[in-house]
Amino acid sequence: MNCFRILLFCSDRAKLPNLMQACKNMADKVHPASIMLLVAGVDAKVTALQLLESGVDEIIAVEIQEETVFSETISAILEQVIRKYNIQILLMLHTPFETEVAARVSTKLDAGCITNCLSISGDTDTLFAEKMLYGGVVTGTYAMKYPAVCTLHENICRDKWSGIVQQQAKVLIEDAEPRTVRKKVVQRRPIEKAVDLKNAERIVAIGRGLSKKEDLPLVEELSKALSAQLGCSRPLVEDYKWLKLERQVGLTGTTVAPKLYLAIGISGQIQHVVGIKDAQVVVAINNNKNAPIFEVADYGIVGDLYEAIPHLKELAQTRTY
Ligand SMILES: Cc1cc2nc3c(=O)[nH]c(=O)nc-3n(C[C@H](O)[C@H](O)[C@H](O)COP(=O)(O)OP(=O)(O)OC[C@H]3O[C@@H](n4cnc5c(N)ncnc54)[C@H](O)[C@@H]3O)c2cc1C
Repeated sequence: MNCFRILLFCSDRAKLPNLMQACKNMADKVHPASIMLLVAGVDAKVTALQLLESGVDEIIAVEIQEETVFSETISAILEQVIRKYNIQILLMLHTPFETEVAARVSTKLDAGCITNCLSISGDTDTLFAEKMLYGGVVTGTYAMKYPAVCTLHENICRDKWSGIVQQQAKVLIEDAEPRTVRKKVVQRRPIEKAVDLKNAERIVAIGRGLSKKEDLPLVEELSKALSAQLGCSRPLVEDYKWLKLERQVGLTGTTVAPKLYLAIGISGQIQHVVGIKDAQVVVAINNNKNAPIFEVADYGIVGDLYEAIPHLKELAQTRTY
């Protein structure tokens, strides 16, 4: 294979350095590659010029007149670009939008698609992509022929690329093939999102140890006293419907990195614990001294949460946070 090409697409420009760094880390394990970036939108050419020093070798700019860029449009452009430039790998972050794009592009190309990859390696013929299986209990490695489509797990996209640019990217202008747009935006409504667990400094998380919904204020008061955000384990969202998904911590919830994570009545199953491994200090309250949460906790209280919470709240109220 003469020229091995990796194409990046990132719907959130602020996250491009993260995708870039993950790509650089992986490119070495695959094949010496030329890194290309697709920029598509109303001001694609202007955007491309702003990204000349983003670390990629070439930027493909495709101007489209759609104010809202749908996954159908991006997928069609990516298919066109991948075919024309003989791209081997399409790499994207793992977001709902990019995941949809990945599925569409791989279907159009009849290419392999692995989402939420933990690592990628390969040789000139085959790409190996590793991802978590069975809720994170094991990892599996998939082999794919090129072209291949991958989205990357957020854990491997934490660092931002900040390398020195030897040469500015070359900009290639492409026209999008005409397409019938079948969707249109009829109304825009802001998403109400008061909960931001990802950036919370302190989180008080409650699990199935809580006996009933009526007891939630007990935990909310402690959380308030600690100026913390309220989080929870999955059963409280999925089974009991006491709290919304935005409060769920873990594999299928949010991955958090607070200074303090207080896990109350949470057993500490792997799917929960993977979401808190970047927490600086983990404190657990559980009435079962053998609960797995104590294996990851820095401090533990073996006891009844109904006894511990009022004491902690009282203590918290004597301090300012
Ligand atoms: C694909 C998949 C994805 C998943 N994703 C997630 C995820 O993102 N997040 C998540 O949380 N889970 C997730 N799960 C579910 C996960 O496997 C566990 O079932 C879940 O985390 C258990 O929640 P829990 O610890 O609150 O409940 P339990 O496991 O029932 O634990 C309750 C704990 O409370 C303690 N307790 C009971 N009463 C008291 C009391 N009075 N005082 C003190 N302690 C008490 C018990 O000793 C026990 O340890 C996922 C599962 C799968 C299969």
